[in-house]
Amino acid sequence: IVSRESHKHDSVIDVGGIPIGGNKVQVIGGPCSVETQEQMDASAEHVYTAGCQLMRGGAFKPRTSPYTFQGNGEEGLKMFRNAADKYNLRIVTELMDARMLDTFLKYDVDVIQIGTRSMQNFELLKEVGRINKPVILKRGMSATISEWLMAAEYIAAGGNHNIIFCERGIRTFETAYRNVLDVTCIPVLKKETHLPVIIDPSHAGGKAWMVPALARAAIAAGADGLLVEMHPNPCDAWCDADQALNPQEFESLMGSLRGIAGVI
Ligand code: PEP
Ligand code: MN
Repeated sequence: IVSRESHKHDSVIDVGGIPIGGNKVQVIGGPCSVETQEQMDASAEHVYTAGCQLMRGGAFKPRTSPYTFQGNGEEGLKMFRNAADKYNLRIVTELMDARMLDTFLKYDVDVIQIGTRSMQNFELLKEVGRINKPVILKRGMSATISEWLMAAEYIAAGGNHNIIFCERGIRTFETAYRNVLDVTCIPVLKKETHLPVIIDPSHAGGKAWMVPALARAAIAAGADGLLVEMHPNPCDAWCDADQALNPQEFESLMGSLRGIAGVI
């Protein structure tokens, strides 16, 4: 279903009236995690002012250590929805456990994110395949492109064809940055699938100063959008502080992208 053979034209995914794929480039901005109502309100204001229509933020966080902040859970979804509604933003947030799906629907999450660590959680993929909410399927950090395409097929096989691929960097021998952004996957996916492809430069580089270069490379290579971490006050971020852009940096990134493509 996800293959180019089954569908010749590029698919455009409708996220509550906002298109992902096609001629426009969409930037999804927001903090790594939902912290407080104030932080979410400030983030939403900055994301909206910079020209975005979609916002990111995790309420359930897949942290390496069980002793670090795990997310605010349902309370976080409530804060996120509240902040986003003030600026008419669509919300993107990670689902780690299928048992939370009803709660996600209760807060009308617009896009369900499947994280890198869950790409081959086949039971989770089947569950999001049964509903028709758009899904961002992140590439497993050690997954091949064909494994990634097959993971998407699990979602599509259940009837949900609203899938957006997201490259977020893969593991290699290199240690100078968090992950290697595989820009090469963009033309490969464009050839293999009709579905949109977005790039997360934040989790790839792992440092805020690398984000603009990676973001521009992704758009120049034909990506349909970006998932970018920003924070009203990066030094105080509860999670992934090093890679968060501050509001000015985020706004100037948006400006520089407009020189490459028609960002909304
Ligand atoms: C995230 O986007 O917050 C995240 C945890 O990303 P990834 O699954 O790519 O590590
Ligand atoms: Mn993060």
